[in-house]
Amino acid sequence: MKAIAVVPERKDVRLVDHKEPRVTSPTDVRLRMLEVGVCGTDREICAFQYGTPPAGSEYLVIGHESLGEVVEVGPKVTRLRRGDLVVPTVRRPCPHATCAACRAGRRDFCYTGDFTERGIKQAHGFMTESVVDDESYMNVVPRELREVAVLVEPLTIAEKALQQIGQIQERLPWTCPAHPGEKASHCHKAVVLGAGPVGLLGAMALRVAGYQTFVYSREPAADPKARLVQSIGATYLSAEDCPARDLATKIGNIDLVYEATGASKLAFTVIEVLGTNGVYVFTGVPGRKGPIEVDTDLIMRNLVLKNQVLFGTVNAGKEAFEAAIRDLGTFMKRFPAAVKAMITGRFPVEAHRDLLLGPLTGIKNVITLQ
Ligand code: BGC
Repeated sequence: MKAIAVVPERKDVRLVDHKEPRVTSPTDVRLRMLEVGVCGTDREICAFQYGTPPAGSEYLVIGHESLGEVVEVGPKVTRLRRGDLVVPTVRRPCPHATCAACRAGRRDFCYTGDFTERGIKQAHGFMTESVVDDESYMNVVPRELREVAVLVEPLTIAEKALQQIGQIQERLPWTCPAHPGEKASHCHKAVVLGAGPVGLLGAMALRVAGYQTFVYSREPAADPKARLVQSIGATYLSAEDCPARDLATKIGNIDLVYEATGASKLAFTVIEVLGTNGVYVFTGVPGRKGPIEVDTDLIMRNLVLKNQVLFGTVNAGKEAFEAAIRDLGTFMKRFPAAVKAMITGRFPVEAHRDLLLGPLTGIKNVITLQ
């Protein structure tokens, strides 16, 4: 069976002959992989900056943003049947009895760091024809989302962030004034940093949650991504026209910043303009580029005097997958063209080297496996 893999020892990215997996445990299911998205993490793994093959394997099959179809179920599988469309979660728990997070089913909060991640860390991923895993890791997707379901995994980043933001802001014992037809967060302003897939999906989730949403990115105001942002009812602000330090002057009190660039310099500049009672969430994983200068006095003063919260989040638990599937359905009702426009290309397996090693193009590129 062919699979797309990275071979770190040989500094190589290539198609490998991967062993066809079998259903062994009674709760296993076998998936026929339909589509796998290419993301920044995959490109980093293919640049040998990240990612680890499973013990005993020279290569790591990559791919973690996926959509599969159930083709075989073990005798004790109760939730799934053949023909179901599913998006598997990525992380698998660490083995330690002392890890309260993994033992509670929240491996996305693993304490020990000994978790595995399919397609990233010590477990093969989904850029292959067939995958076997336990049914508990599978999230069923309605058929009508077939065309866009490969966006579920990157959307889980925003969903997990929004769940935590909701919990944090419960510290504020009031709500937005009730406005007919408006969602609970309608009086709150959110800034999304970055107009890549994580940022754009985050902006969609924030719009659906009711936030006044601004997407700040480096593309000029005439870029198609800016039009996409406008089409979901958000405002696009180009870094060409607005320096990051002027964001609050333009927007007013920034209640939420959703960082989706992985660019730490920009991210730390924007902390300076986070508003009163604001929450700042980091989702990017920057490469190590050396220290930069940061105005720590200003940031610390604001944190205290403005009751601010900064936090980081890595995806994702089952709840976030379920929320992503629900929200994707809502996006498809509210702004279907924008959701479909996120997928800028579907490519055969043979195109993998260009997609993983070539220049970055489009928004979300997808490899079709069948
Ligand atoms: C994946 C996550 C993973 C993270 C760190 C992201 O691209 O979507 O599942 O936890 O990388 O490895």
